[in-house]
Amino acid sequence: MTRYVFITGGVVSSLGKGLASAALAALLQARGYKVRLRKLDPYLNVDPGTMSPTQHGEVFVTDDGAETDLDLGHYERFTGVPATRADNITTGRIYLDIITKERRGDYLGATIQVIPHVTNAIKEFVLDGNDAYDFVLVEIGGTVGDIEGLPFFEAIRQLGQELPRGTCAYVHLTLLPYIPSAGELKTKPTQHSVAELRSIGIQPDILLCRCDRPIPREERRKLAQFCNVRESAVIEARDVGTIYEVPLSYKEEGLDREVLAHFGLETGPEPKLDRWRDIVGRIKSPEGEVSIAIVGKYTGLKDAYKSLIEALSHGGIANRVKVNLEWIESEVFEREDPAPFLEGLNGILVPGGFGQRGAEGKIRAARYARERKIPYFGICFGMQMAVVEAARSLAGIPDANSTEFGPTPEPVVGLLTEWMRGNELERRVAEGDLGGTMRLGSYKAALAPDSQIAKIYGGTRIAERHRHRYEVNMAYRERLEANGMRFAGLSPDGLLPETVEVVGHPWFIGVQFHPELKSRPFEPHPLFQSFVAAAIEQSRLV
Ligand code: GLN
Repeated sequence: MTRYVFITGGVVSSLGKGLASAALAALLQARGYKVRLRKLDPYLNVDPGTMSPTQHGEVFVTDDGAETDLDLGHYERFTGVPATRADNITTGRIYLDIITKERRGDYLGATIQVIPHVTNAIKEFVLDGNDAYDFVLVEIGGTVGDIEGLPFFEAIRQLGQELPRGTCAYVHLTLLPYIPSAGELKTKPTQHSVAELRSIGIQPDILLCRCDRPIPREERRKLAQFCNVRESAVIEARDVGTIYEVPLSYKEEGLDREVLAHFGLETGPEPKLDRWRDIVGRIKSPEGEVSIAIVGKYTGLKDAYKSLIEALSHGGIANRVKVNLEWIESEVFEREDPAPFLEGLNGILVPGGFGQRGAEGKIRAARYARERKIPYFGICFGMQMAVVEAARSLAGIPDANSTEFGPTPEPVVGLLTEWMRGNELERRVAEGDLGGTMRLGSYKAALAPDSQIAKIYGGTRIAERHRHRYEVNMAYRERLEANGMRFAGLSPDGLLPETVEVVGHPWFIGVQFHPELKSRPFEPHPLFQSFVAAAIEQSRLV
């Protein structure tokens, strides 16, 4: 039987509902259950693909090519289960489907309404394809009380009545702020938030209370009484040093036992969490450290690079070192010499990006790394800029540029208009829609057997996730290869460059895909593991 856990949030946003959901999933998984995580996003965008990463954080791309919410990245990292297009839905998607059907006449003259049409569509999405799972955890984005969230709350309320008895649980994540003048953790915001939830018909079963210190017995009792939950269902979710400690801390507080008890399931033997303890130990007691520069554009909001930050930390876990990140706005290098900023750092990473602003600064960072023999990792845009740099400085093409920034006589990076997906040809036109039209999702690549990257992967056949509209132009391959930049990885049909490397450099690799999306704490991505190892080597030289 499939059981549903709905996770809602209250009081303030950014409490980490995604992490909380992922951590609960990890605990249930460690008890041997099959778990699936899904996310309902109340905003009106059809998907987060067109949203600025500075507003909404990174766009997480799945193997099947969906542009999804970054919480799906947490889900994958915590459970090891690859997310799919069917794990994330937005209000925009639901309305688009309903309106498309309405225009086609599918509703046979009915008046289309939020209840039942929108709520039915949400319920269908939530219930679809879950047969193989013991638990389906459904996270509702936003905070209770948000206008956009109402249809989603209504849909999960209805499910509480429609699903078999005893197969639904509602977990509400809230905040207990500490007020220094009173010297107390305050329960009132949580009481209000639960009152709001109950006013729309949802009685939470478990309260997960974010706090920065232990919740005194008296406050627990108060919360239980005023919010109408059992005292054992008031779970302390105290701040911890690393996100990978969250499952351990929830286990200590008995979250998994409370969930199982709610469903009348045996709480039996404790979950096996040794591997979590191992990585937390490695994070907390590193044997050394390295410093990596991230030269990017959205450095103000770290969520814009969520998977990247995690993948670098996984590289650190694998090498037992702490990876310090130095965030540098690439535009700075357009005005100033990069040397004073980059000296003393052990590696330079230029991540994915869009648009011209800051591009010349990234090119200068790539040049600095190439000339000074500092490990360089160029991801997607970071590879494209490294190729433009090599074309200008090594291959003698001073006008080399990307057509992403406008017409150029030397389009070393150009618009991708045709490529193969499986056996099908995908086509795009320059003036088409922006949403959902990139080369998205998992594509295979073939690596040259004697290349550095093939050694790192330990093989020549790889599949990685993509999200790009431009590509390095094959017409420049010969000139670049003759001058030290090797096209080491290509699409299986040999038409699209997938990876480049600078021959004779200790570690200079560019990849057209996003390896950070597939890195997990228990399976650090080989490229991040190797890049951090190269940074350690570099740190020994200085
Ligand atoms: N802007 C570049 C492109 O569209 C790179 C995209 C990226 O870095 N994800 O190809």
